[in-house]
Amino acid sequence: MPIFDYKCSNCGRSFDTLVRSCDEVVQCPDCGSSDVARLLSKFGFKSGSRFSSSSGCSCGSCGGGSCSSCGTSRH
Ligand SMILES: [Zn+2]
Repeated sequence: MPIFDYKCSNCGRSFDTLVRSCDEVVQCPDCGSSDVARLLSKFGFKSGSRFSSSSGCSCGSCGGGSCSSCGTSRH
């Protein structure tokens, strides 16, 4: 599972979390705000070809882009 780095726009805290779905809502563990910005993923940065850093999310079926674009219902 990809681990993404986030930074909370509300309190400024940086944290990382496992994201199981492209549509998963991530909330700040400190203040609970969902106003968080996704930073470059460590996983995607290392593997490069498996996860696109530009899209930030891959469903594994279409190999890139968002799950909604390929129409897969894997999640
Ligand atoms: Zn916060």
